[in-house]
Formats: sequence, C-alpha cells, structure tokens
Amino acid sequence: MSASITDQCLAHNRRYAGGESVHRAAYPGRQPIQPAKRLAVVACMDARLDVEDLLGLQTGEAHVIRNAGGVVTDDAIRCLIISHHLLNTNEIVLIHHTRCGMLAFTDDLLKAGLEGDPAAGKLLGQATGRAFTGCGKCAATPSAFHAFRGAIEPLDAPRDERNMERLAWDVRRGMSAILNHPWIPTSGPDAVTVRGFVYDVDTGLLEEVSYPGPMGSFG
Ligand SMILES: [Zn+2]
Repeated sequence: MSASITDQCLAHNRRYAGGESVHRAAYPGRQPIQPAKRLAVVACMDARLDVEDLLGLQTGEAHVIRNAGGVVTDDAIRCLIISHHLLNTNEIVLIHHTRCGMLAFTDDLLKAGLEGDPAAGKLLGQATGRAFTGCGKCAATPSAFHAFRGAIEPLDAPRDERNMERLAWDVRRGMSAILNHPWIPTSGPDAVTVRGFVYDVDTGLLEEVSYPGPMGSFG
C-alpha cells in the first residue's frame, strides 16, 4: 500500500524541522478548486504555526481550517463536511501544539472576567501577563470558548507530561467528534481517515496522538 498523504506530510515535517523549506510561496498559476492532495487540516491559529510550511504543502493541495486551539467546533465540522462531500478531500489531520494559549484559561474564568468579575480578571492577568480589562456585560455568544480541559497553567509554559496529556485529550475529543459525526463517513468507499498530532513549537516536529484513549479527567 502506498504511503498516505498524511505520511508524506510527516516526512515533509521532519525536513521542515531540519531547516529545509518544502513549501514554495510563489503563485503557482491556475489550479482546480479541489485540493490536489485531498487533505483537510484543522489547526490552531497560533502565530508560530505556518501550516503549509510545517506540512510541506503547496498552494492548492489542502484545505486549512484554523481557529483558537484547532478545536473541532461546529464551524470546523461544517467546513469538513463541505471539504469532503463537495470538494473531494478524504484525509483529515488535526494539529494542536505545545505552549498553546488554550491551556491557560477556562471558559468560566474568561466569561466571568469579561462580565466584570475582578477576581477572574486578576487570575487572567496573572496567567497571561497582560492587564485584563473586563467589559461588565454578559453576552449569549460565543456559547463556548473551548478552552482545554484540566488545571490551567501560565501562558506559554514549556511542555511537560501534564500539558502534553491535556493536549492529547483535546485532540482525541476532536477525532471522536469527527469520527462519530453522521455526515462524515469513516467506512465504505467514501470513507475519510482522521489522524491527530501535537506540534512542538520548540522543535518544529509533529508527534502523533494515539487514538482511542483518554479525553479528560477531573482526578
Ligand atoms: Zn494554540
């Protein structure tokens, strides 16, 4: 069996981490609308991730869906359904990363801070190193910020066993949400594959997350 596109991207990633550029930035000329590698990537918006660079993708080869955390939100699912059923992608890659900001707050804490709770604002200020200014207003949306499960840590903390586990939990939750969605086929002739990774912003390397496995614990 030939290597999957995801495996090719992993080989590119090792070259990228070694200082080589695989992605060519120049305008490639006219291309079809369907991604040439039939790949869809969901990744965090973090400024340290250049998704096309770190996967060695060329313009036109993949859909790249980004948000805070690389979380499989309602909108990410919407994009993946369109990507697969209308634009023919059949491999999905999820990318979380070390030092992610989503490790440094909880939904309740951010909401309370935004609504004007001074104690929450103080904690957020300590976690982020930025003076937090509450807005003193409640809002119905966004209904969730999707901060990662587990005890919060200071912003941009180096990787350790605990935060790597928290990242893996959320990657698996995203994989599970995709694999169990009724409109994303994972068996039969129209099946898509889903693989999840943590990108180490200090080395440039992707590390695969095992699946299935734990998706969180309050213990
Ligand atoms: Zn992030």
